[in-house]
Parts: sequence; structure tokens; C-alpha cells
Amino acid sequence: VSAGQREQGRRLIFDAIRAHGPVPRIELSAHTGISRATVTTITAEMLARGLIEETLPDEEARGAGRGRPRVDLKLRGAAHLVAGVKVSTSDLSLMLMDFEGRDLAVGTHPLERGIMSPDRLVDEVATALSDLMAREGRTHDALSGLGVGIAGIVDALRGFVHWSPSLSETNVDLGAMLRARLGIPAIVDNDANLVAVAEHRFGLARGHSDFVVITIESGVGLGIVLGGDLYRGSRGCGAEFGHIKVQLDGALCRCGQRGCLEAYVADYALLREAALIMAPDRDHPATLARLLEAAHDNDPIAQSILTRAGRMFAMGVANLINIFDPELIILAGEQLQFDHLYSEAVMDAIRASIVQVDKPPPEVVVHTWGSKMWAMGAAASALDHVADLALAGMNADAA
Ligand SMILES: [Zn+2]
Repeated sequence: VSAGQREQGRRLIFDAIRAHGPVPRIELSAHTGISRATVTTITAEMLARGLIEETLPDEEARGAGRGRPRVDLKLRGAAHLVAGVKVSTSDLSLMLMDFEGRDLAVGTHPLERGIMSPDRLVDEVATALSDLMAREGRTHDALSGLGVGIAGIVDALRGFVHWSPSLSETNVDLGAMLRARLGIPAIVDNDANLVAVAEHRFGLARGHSDFVVITIESGVGLGIVLGGDLYRGSRGCGAEFGHIKVQLDGALCRCGQRGCLEAYVADYALLREAALIMAPDRDHPATLARLLEAAHDNDPIAQSILTRAGRMFAMGVANLINIFDPELIILAGEQLQFDHLYSEAVMDAIRASIVQVDKPPPEVVVHTWGSKMWAMGAAASALDHVADLALAGMNADAA
């Protein structure tokens, strides 16, 4: 058996334990196609390193004391602790997660300003993490890894941020800055990609290998998973769904170009239009809530702003489906306030614009996760990274 085969075997078995655990060794052999003898050898290595543990199934599954008790394997939660951090304009949201993917604690850390220098952001992340760890009675050195999700154009393989609405500078090696400051492995990725990782690992996309996740927050994000892997494009900036063009010479986007989807559906775009009709002043600023309320009260202009946003959004989603033909499209949002983009009219418009064949259209589902969606995605990705490092360490020692 070559080192490469051994490495691939470890990876397959680890992934199978993560996907199916608690799981007996004999089933791991069936899931991976690896011989029972090799499964026994590799799982013994993982047990010795504390990455996995044995567990007895409950009475029923064990079949009430006949013969030798069946022993299952699962990831050992205490093996590693990771943190996920999502950077948004008003705060950092944080989550601590164990090696099994259980969220142990969540927290938020307010930000004074929405746009800041890279140094300032690293300071804020460090402070927020130590506050959360202290609150949980843990020390910083208990952390094995960190995942940070940020809006913008990110080369995740390097943790390099080409551009982000949260940073006052472009071309920032944020991953390296975080690793230097915190002394732990750190990954940085586009926030929507991380939500796709979380949907794949814990959410509605479990068991799917071809799906897209469209995130709806202040902007519109997209994560594409093809053949089980995130699609990133050749410059690390694939899947900038918010900046696909839906109107020739259209509205001005904050990226500087015209006619982008975001320039019609993002909250800043809606508020820009709402300000024209709402005569906002200091006491009555134009807010998304006021716009939605006006539409609800049958204000025709408010309704037309939201209807147009919904139609533009439907056109973008339909284009996406026509390109990728995924099994599943997840519209992931933190809050229900964006339900003008989830409405039946929007769904109908999507269905009317996709390629029609004699098969059911891809499933479009709405997933409103609540506030922990983003931090969970960041933590899930940190977990993947820490697992990669642990498995690579086994290879290095075995070589
Ligand atoms: Zn744009």
C-alpha cells in the first residue's frame, strides 16, 4: 500500500465516520469499499490519536445482549474546538463548535463602524474571541482553528480578500494576519460559500452533491457545490451572484458597475428608492421595515419597488438554474423580513423562466436559519480545515 493510497483511505474513512457515525466498522467497509482489515488498522490509528471514539449503541440497536456487543465509531467531540466568526456591518457573530459539529456557544460582538482597517478588524476578532472563550470558562489555547466569513471577493485557498464592503483597503492578506495574531490555523472565505458548507454538512443539502445556496442579507450571495465540492472559479472569485447583470445600463451598484442584481434587491438599493417616496428626516429615516409596511398598506410605489426587486431576483435565479441545472436551490436567509424575495409570485416567475423538459424542475426551498447561520458556516469550514490538518499530520508521521 503506497503512502498516497493510505492517505486517501484515511480521508475516505474519516468522511464516512463523519457522515454516518455512530457507525460500526463493518459498515465503514461497505461505505468506502476498503477492506475490513484496513478499516481496522486505520480506525485504530485514529482512535490512538483521539480523533474518533468507540461508543456502545443503545439497548435496542444492540439487540438485548446476544453475543458480543456491537461497537460503533464516531468523531470525538472533545478532540478539537474551533470558532467561527461572521463579519457583518454592525457586529461580529461568533460560534464555538466541537469536533463533532455541535455548537457549544454563540456570541455577538458589536462593531462601532461597518467599514474598518484590516488591523482594526483583526483586533476586533481577537477581542471578540477572547471574550467568548472567557465567558465559557475556556482559554485561548483550547482553540484548534478559526474560520472567518466576510462579504466580498475572497481567494479562500490563501485567505486573501480582494475586496470586501467591510474593509477600508483592498487586497488584504487577512488569513495571514489572523494566523499571526492568534497563533492558530485560520481560514477566510466568502460568507455565502461558508453557508453552503454548513448547508452541506448540517442543513438541507445533506446528502446532495450538486446544489446552490443563495444567501439573502444586506447583499445577495451564492455558494455553488458541484460534485460535492465548492466551485470557486479560476481567480477565487466565482459565484458573484449579486453582480450578475439583470439590466443593460441599469442602476448603479456599490461595486461601481451598472445593472447588477444587487443594485435592485439589496437593502441599500431598496432604501435608495424608498427615500424618494418616504420624505425621510432625522426622526423618520427610510428603513426596510417602513418600506415593507407601506407595501403592506397598499402603497402602490412601495409595492412596485418590491415587486421589481422580486422580478429581478427571479430572473437571476432562473438564469442560475439554466446554467447549472442543480438538484436543489436553497434560499438561505437569516430573517423573514426578506419574504418579498421568497413569495409565491417570485417562485412562479422562477419556474416560468427555466428550461422546460419532461422532468420536474429543481427543488427550490427556503431556509431561514436565524442569526447563527453565518457563524455556523464559518465554524463548519474551520472544522474541515482542522480535520484536514489532523489527517495530514497522520500522513506525515506515517511517511
Ligand atoms: Zn455590482
